Amino acid sequence: KAKENGANHFQFFDQSMVDNNLNKFELENELRNAINSDSLTVFYQPKYNAATNAITGAEALARWKHPRHGMIPPGVFIPIAEEANLIVPLERLIIRKVFSQLVAWKSRGFEVPRTSINISIIHFYQEDFVKFMQHTLKEYGLYGELIEIEVTESIMIKKEDSINEQLQALREIGIEVSIDDFGTGYSSLSYLSKLSVDRLKIDQSFISHSQENREIISTIVSMANNLKLKVIAEGVETESQIDLLKSLGCQEVQGYYYSPPLPYNEYETMMNRELQES
Ligand code: C2E
Ligand code: MG
Ligand code: MG
Ligand code: MG
Repeated sequence: KAKENGANHFQFFDQSMVDNNLNKFELENELRNAINSDSLTVFYQPKYNAATNAITGAEALARWKHPRHGMIPPGVFIPIAEEANLIVPLERLIIRKVFSQLVAWKSRGFEVPRTSINISIIHFYQEDFVKFMQHTLKEYGLYGELIEIEVTESIMIKKEDSINEQLQALREIGIEVSIDDFGTGYSSLSYLSKLSVDRLKIDQSFISHSQENREIISTIVSMANNLKLKVIAEGVETESQIDLLKSLGCQEVQGYYYSPPLPYNEYETMMNRELQES
C-alpha cells in the first residue's frame, strides 16, 4: 500500500529485520503458528461524533506481539497473511475474538457501540463468508447491528457482482459496510452508486494534510451526502483538522486526537468512564 503510514511501518520494520536477521519465510511460519495458537490480540479505537463528542463506534485492529521481535505492525503482517493464504483464518480468529469480547462487555452491562472489523478482499473469495458471519453471530448470541466491516476501495476496482451480493447479504442481517481508505484507489464513481455500502471512510492521508486537501475532502463529503452514504474521517490528530472537517460537513471522526487504538482493558476502562460521564 502506498500509504504514508504503511510505508513508515515498512521502513521501521525493514530496519529491525536487518537487526534481527529475520526473513519473510520465518515470519510467515511464525504467523501461522501465532494464528494456530491463538496468539493474536485486538486493539480498539473509538470513533466519535465531532459535534457532540459521543462515541459512535469502534474499530478492531489486529495486533501481533512476536515473542522475540515485539509488536509487528499489521501493515507488515497483513500483506504476509494475504500472500501466504493465512488471511482467512487470521480474520476469522479476529472476528471470533471481537465477538467474544463484545459478549463479555455486554454481560457486564456495557452498551457496546457498533464495532468494525477490517476484512481483506481475499476473504470475499471464500464462498462461505456470509454464512460464517451469520453462524458466528448466532453462536455468540449477537446481532448484525453490532457489527460493521471495513473493506478497502479495491472492491470497487474489481466490480464483481458476487462481492456486491455478499455485501448486500451482510447488510440484510444488519451489518454495516464501510469503504476504508477512500480516495486513494482508482475507484469508479459510477460503480460506487451501485455498490451496497453504508459509509465512506476518508483516507487519513487527506486528513493529515487537510488544508491542501480541503477540496477533496469536501467533494467526498458531498458525494456521500448525494449518494445517501455516511462519512467518517480517520487519522484526525489536531483540533484544526476537526474544525475543518466540521465546517465541511463531516460529522464522524476517529484518530489519535481522540484516542489511539487501545488494548482490551484500557478500552473497557475508557468506556466505563464515558458511561459515568454521560
Ligand atoms: P486502517 O484500517 O485504515 O486503520 C487505520 C490505521 O491508522 C491503524 O493502524 C490505526 O492505528 C492508525 N491510526 C489511527 N488513528 C491515527 C492517527 O490519528 N494518526 C495516524 N498516523 N494513524 C492513526 P494499524 O493498527 O497499524 O493498522 C494498519 C492497517 O492494517 C489498517 O489500516 C488495516 O488496513 C490493516 N489491518 C489491521 N487489522 C486488520 C485485520 O484484522 N484485517 C485486515 N484485512 N486488515 C487489518
Ligand atoms: Mg480500517
Ligand atoms: Mg483506513
Ligand atoms: Mg488503512
